[in-house]
Amino acid sequence: VREFHVHSICSVSNIGTPADGLAALPHHAELKLTRQRWALARVLFGGGRRHLTARNLHDEAVAANVRVCLSTVYNTLQLFCRHGLLREVALGDGVTWFDTNVADHSHFFCEDTLRLIDSPNEDWAVGQLSIPEGYEVVKVDLVARLRPVRGT
Ligand SMILES: [Zn+2]
Repeated sequence: VREFHVHSICSVSNIGTPADGLAALPHHAELKLTRQRWALARVLFGGGRRHLTARNLHDEAVAANVRVCLSTVYNTLQLFCRHGLLREVALGDGVTWFDTNVADHSHFFCEDTLRLIDSPNEDWAVGQLSIPEGYEVVKVDLVARLRPVRGT
């Protein structure tokens, strides 16, 4: 993950193709979902397209009366990633985010609100890359960290 700072106000809403992870689950028989993992999947994918951490999902699970420990939540999220139902977004600060939109896209991370949001397009990212001669872009997976502009 490359990171660079863009000083701008976070006002970009999520766009793109919604991932319907819950609908895809029955086709992943090899997942061998336990009742606990099914309950987690319902909480996770029932919330629509979004970005969240294991702790976020754990809080939601507890609120939905799903009794599960944080490590089970984390392991389940990793399992869904391995099966292509989720995408992992590493910010380099020790916190792993999970994205229900598995299509190629880049992100903004708002440092003031600690929110991860989708970039509306890829132009800004590709346009700012200085690609070494003899190479081409395979995949763009950037995170720009944002903070509110001071004094505005
Ligand atoms: Zn995303």
